[in-house]
This record gives sequence, C-alpha cells and structure tokens, in this order.
Amino acid sequence: MHAIREEYGDYRFLVHNHYTGEETQVTVDPDKHGLFNDKSLFEKLPHACPFFRHRPGSDKAMCIVHQTRPEICRDYTCWRLLILDHSGRRAGRIRNIRTLCSDDSHLTNVWASCIETIDEPDDPKWEDEMIRILRRAGYSVRR
Ligand code: SF4
Repeated sequence: MHAIREEYGDYRFLVHNHYTGEETQVTVDPDKHGLFNDKSLFEKLPHACPFFRHRPGSDKAMCIVHQTRPEICRDYTCWRLLILDHSGRRAGRIRNIRTLCSDDSHLTNVWASCIETIDEPDDPKWEDEMIRILRRAGYSVRR
C-alpha cells in the first residue's frame, strides 16, 4: 500500500499511500538502518511495504519507520494486503505473511475452510492461490 515517492537522504523518505493518496515523511528508526539496507525480504514478498521487515532471526513482522509511521498505520497497524467485498468495502486485511484480520463472517469462513488448508510453503505461490480463491468467493485483493 505504501511506495517511496522521494528519497531525501539520511534515511528520510516521502511515502505515498496507494489507497488514500496520503503522503507522509518518514525516517527509518536510528537502530534499524541495517535492516533497511537488507532488501532480501522482497525476493519472497515483492509487494510488501518498503519499510516492512522481519525481526532478525524470526518471521515476526516489524516496521522500521515505527517512530514516524503514517497515520493510517497508527490507526490500523501494519498490513500488507487489503481485501474488499463485492461493493468495494474493506472486508479484511492480511498482516504479517498469512494472518487474516476480519470481522466479515463469510470471509473468515472461506479463509478457515479453503485458505488455511492450502499446503504451499512458497509464499508468492500461496498468495496467488489465496487471491484466486477469494476472487471466486466474490472478494478482491489489493496489493
Ligand atoms: S506500519 Fe507497516 S505499512 Fe506502515 S509504514 Fe510500517 S511497515 Fe509500512
């Protein structure tokens, strides 16, 4: 949902939110410069926010601009994929790699019965399959 619009140097950036159009100046937290420079995560998750990383030695998510993160991230916490229902309303979001956050009972049922059972260790392949299933169930997914 976020893309870097401008780079000012000294780990400062202007980021653009695809959904809201909001632009925010963020700075990589001083203790996370090394994590910013490590871009290996994007081989597995090419659509992830540029400031999304895993905690070293774990697959737990972290935001490396936490101190200056955009307002929408403060309101909704970090998410990387947005799920919309047939009328375009937000039905859920996906946090970390495979965690659904949703109050939509149909979506949570589809997730439990068809998506949690996908036996695919490769994350991009899992994501493609998950999106195909949700589309068939009437949802769209924004990356
Ligand atoms: S909270 Fe998540 S989406 Fe927001 S800037 Fe941080 S990593 Fe990106």
